[in-house]
Amino acid sequence: MVNNFDGPVINYSQQKINNKLQIIPCPILFEEKITPQQISIEQWNNLPVFFKTNDGDFPFDLMGAAFYLITRYEEYFSITPDNHGRFSANNSLAYKHNFLHRALIHHYAFCIESKMELPKTMQEKVKYKPLITFDIDNAYAYLYKGLYRTTGAAIKDIVRFDFENLYNRISTLCFIKKDPFDTYAYIDAQATNDFEIAYFFMTANLSQFDRNMDYRKKQFQKLVTKIASQYQIGIHPSYYSNEQTEKLQEEINRLATMSKKKIIHSRQHFLRLKFPNTFQQLIKEGIEHDYSLGYADKAGFRASIAVPFAFFNLTTNEKTNLILHPITFMDATFKFYEKKTNDQTIKTISDLKNEIQQVNGQLHVVLHNETLSEKGDWKGWRNIFEKIIS
Ligand SMILES: [Zn+2]
Repeated sequence: MVNNFDGPVINYSQQKINNKLQIIPCPILFEEKITPQQISIEQWNNLPVFFKTNDGDFPFDLMGAAFYLITRYEEYFSITPDNHGRFSANNSLAYKHNFLHRALIHHYAFCIESKMELPKTMQEKVKYKPLITFDIDNAYAYLYKGLYRTTGAAIKDIVRFDFENLYNRISTLCFIKKDPFDTYAYIDAQATNDFEIAYFFMTANLSQFDRNMDYRKKQFQKLVTKIASQYQIGIHPSYYSNEQTEKLQEEINRLATMSKKKIIHSRQHFLRLKFPNTFQQLIKEGIEHDYSLGYADKAGFRASIAVPFAFFNLTTNEKTNLILHPITFMDATFKFYEKKTNDQTIKTISDLKNEIQQVNGQLHVVLHNETLSEKGDWKGWRNIFEKIIS
């Protein structure tokens, strides 16, 4: 039957079919259960490759390798978590073999495509607009925190002899100065049709790692309502929601009530995620799009791909309807994890943008409202932001 078919064919089997492109499969795509894989990386056509085969049009099973990378297969096995219980980039195949900065799956696809004669309709590429996203961990630096937290913070400023911060705090509270994290008007002013903007709001109760203002305050609700009328919004689930899943439902409900929107977008606070539990839980709570797939400690392509894709659950061996939007980089990665200077940051961003352009992928940037405050650690970041969106 395949012999009579005129269109493009990939023969993914051991059996030869007349002049049809053949990839010899390794077992991974035919297995029902997951087991730790022995991976041996080699270089071929300037690409890191694995799952060697003996025959066919490629010396490697590029399909099997792409499946291994995109499903995050390695993250299903016992890992040494970092301080926040996350799979660290340092433990990943991509970082260990120096390909985290490459959207490798696209390059594999190009290799396959170059050996096929595709009809014009199949050569058309989807164009993705860059996606600039903001996590609202702290809607305001000083305002609306309540008497107890404000007094405590002011005492801390005094104990630390941080009189500049104390002065800024008092000036902001007296409405002499604008709150430094109130960068929303600046972001509005930069918005164009050339890129998309999305906001993720935290509506958690106060905890050691969840420091936003009280979600019940009318100023917070006003901010959410205003932003939700202009941009896509989503939930920023609290630090502990990953383990205490009842919190997730509660936080989603709060955001839905105040925004009067169905909440279907989500990004994990601290990018805390565990395969497959986090995504299973999000699906259960009605989330359809997740934006957490990136590393906090390194920039680059965690799933070796730069376009959205459906989450495949390896435990249940099923494709799901949850769409994962892979991250290209996050502001805090450069500043707090890699400790890069602004010039080094600009260079890395430019390299990643080039890679995105080369593979026709989607740039997906994670920022915070405070990143654009031009205060403290974030001096110079408006310039970086303007370079990102240019
Ligand atoms: Zn966060």
